Amino acid sequence: MHRQFNELRLTGTLPSPSAAGLRILELTSTEDFAYDELIKTILADPALSGRIIKIANSANRDGLPPVHTVAQATMRLGVRAVRSVALGFSLIADNRRGTAKGFDFTSYWSNSLATAVAVHMLAQVTRYPDPASAFTCALLCDVGKLALACVHPERYSDIVTANPGAPDLALAKIEGREFGIDHFEVSAELLAHWGLPGEFQEVALLRAMDPEPAEEVVVDLGGPPELLTLVRSGRQIARVMNGSWDIDDARWRGLFLSLRHVGEDLRMDSDALLSICDAIVPSLDDWGRLIDLPVTSAGSFQDIAVEMERRGLRSALISTTFEAGADTGDYDSQPLHFQDELDRPLLPIDGYATEGAAPTRILVVEDDPQMMRLIAHHLKRQGFEVLTASSSSEGLSRALEHSPQIVVTDWMMPEMSGIDLCRTLRRSQAGARMYLIIVTACGNDEQVVEAFEAGVDDFVAKPFNPRILLARVGAAERAIQLRERAEAAERSRLRQVTELGIMTRKLRAAALTDALTHLPNRRYAMQRLKQEWESRERNGRGLAVTIVDIDAFKRVNDEFGHDTGDAVLRTVALHLQAHTRGSDVLCRLGGEEFIVISVGGSTDAAMVAGERLRAAVESKAVEHGSFDEAVTVSLGVATATPEMQSFDDLIKAADEALYAAKEAGRNRVCGAAAKVAPDASGQSDRRSA
Ligand code: GH3
Ligand code: MG
Ligand code: MG
Ligand code: MG
Repeated sequence: MHRQFNELRLTGTLPSPSAAGLRILELTSTEDFAYDELIKTILADPALSGRIIKIANSANRDGLPPVHTVAQATMRLGVRAVRSVALGFSLIADNRRGTAKGFDFTSYWSNSLATAVAVHMLAQVTRYPDPASAFTCALLCDVGKLALACVHPERYSDIVTANPGAPDLALAKIEGREFGIDHFEVSAELLAHWGLPGEFQEVALLRAMDPEPAEEVVVDLGGPPELLTLVRSGRQIARVMNGSWDIDDARWRGLFLSLRHVGEDLRMDSDALLSICDAIVPSLDDWGRLIDLPVTSAGSFQDIAVEMERRGLRSALISTTFEAGADTGDYDSQPLHFQDELDRPLLPIDGYATEGAAPTRILVVEDDPQMMRLIAHHLKRQGFEVLTASSSSEGLSRALEHSPQIVVTDWMMPEMSGIDLCRTLRRSQAGARMYLIIVTACGNDEQVVEAFEAGVDDFVAKPFNPRILLARVGAAERAIQLRERAEAAERSRLRQVTELGIMTRKLRAAALTDALTHLPNRRYAMQRLKQEWESRERNGRGLAVTIVDIDAFKRVNDEFGHDTGDAVLRTVALHLQAHTRGSDVLCRLGGEEFIVISVGGSTDAAMVAGERLRAAVESKAVEHGSFDEAVTVSLGVATATPEMQSFDDLIKAADEALYAAKEAGRNRVCGAAAKVAPDASGQSDRRSA
């Protein structure tokens, strides 16, 4: 695969970063690159500078002031992340179009951006340590497709044109046959070629092997998710956002429903996930403007989930509110979903929180054993947890292994100096968060500047004075606490946003739900009818409604009391729901009247379905207190006709049919124009009026 990749490289047509991007690559290719140079290079490209500042601020924890300069952004994100992000943006800038006619460059980047923005948001919510890098990884991990389109414009055009919407794995097979290398492999090679973290390549390749979430039970360690999981989840969300948002499109609906796996992967309940998805939409709009890429302005994930639930798509993401249990008649065991969901924990983020009374962990790196004992003694006496290392390299491995909050290091040490240790630490994800204090004998101005440029936070001069060191460490602790508090505030803010979203959805759902039967209410029925009426006008599909009215219901109330009346209503609702076709919608219109909305059906089909409902209600006795008898219903069916002006006319026609059924003796189905259902013909009312 490496050979094939080199062949691609030799063509000189592989996508490559802009001039600024290339310079950044070159600059940062050695371990100890000049930090100033990096910043100057970024500053030379104002668009790039703006994007880097934006990503630093959007990863911002509440409470931290926004950054305004590239240097501040670099301090906040870490050099490593800035390098990746700069590279990603500079690639978009220079590879927006190409000669491959069949390959849609704009939509390639729009999709990548949507994935990246989704991943960025998920990374923040799940406390992934380096959201900016996760953003870049998601932005670039499919770059192999772009590369193939650049190197083989004609052949790749033919492939994508001949296989529209082909899954990535299928596409890869064809690419492998055609070019000897597939886009997964090209992505990995390119990411390596640009010196991006090895993890990015793993994500690019692993996607090829494991396109779906793993089935096996993963041991939950409670930590942030893997980069691969984030990218896979973000891609799934992006697919939904870029989809049709048409609930009747079965393919898109499948995509939407598979978000459930995303929730499982990220250990988030679906309500929380939906809220986060809704937060991604405006963020994507923002990024689209900043990068000047068209993005799909999607609808609301929450509303779609509610709508699916209403339409009885049983596997809907959120708990099924209208699903009638089997004919148990046991109303109290029917869960009241709206209420009991309110107390559930929403996001797993608190599980990751580290607040608590654990002592601050300090790593001391010092080659002089006597000095080491002295420093460790004073720190331990103050109640700190102290780790020690007698050389820089030991210090580095202990720091990466134990993630101390504070590192106190000597400057002068054999082999690797303390300042090199600080530089190296700052480039690692974990090290970027540590508070670094350096101890030195000769604190001249030059040295002080060098130390701060290496990313040191503070400075203690020798000869060693324990009180000064403790004062510095105290300041470090305050800074750390401030940051942790800000991070906790951000988590709690996200949590509130999420809960607010969930509450809104629940209230919206509640406003459309009938409290007695939990069926969708009249308001919903009218909204839905209006919608179906309009879509019928567009696509000419049939539309039928059936009005169901309980016979002689007043007698139940009068003879057995209102409570019994209510129980009868609930039982009839359950029977009707259990026998309503999956594609039909049953709502309570009010009183003892229900409506069934059937899309696409003919009058005959609706009559047959109505007859099934009639028979189902009649066949089961309702027991409540001293009441123990079967009730019956009359049904009026009408189908939309070209003469009708609006859905009101349709309801009126069904009402008239219902009236005819009552007139004809009740417990029967009548169609508009007084057509009697074939199965019910000759049927007479048991309790005649
Ligand atoms: P018909 O066969 O002609 O339909 O006779 P009916 O008695 O069912 O018709 P009518 O419309 O006269 O009576 C409907 C009754 O339903 C009147 C009202 O008291 C009762 N009702 C309406 N809503 C409720 C409710 O939520 N609970 C109870 N228990 N009764 C209700
Ligand atoms: Mg020393
Ligand atoms: Mg009535
Ligand atoms: Mg009635």
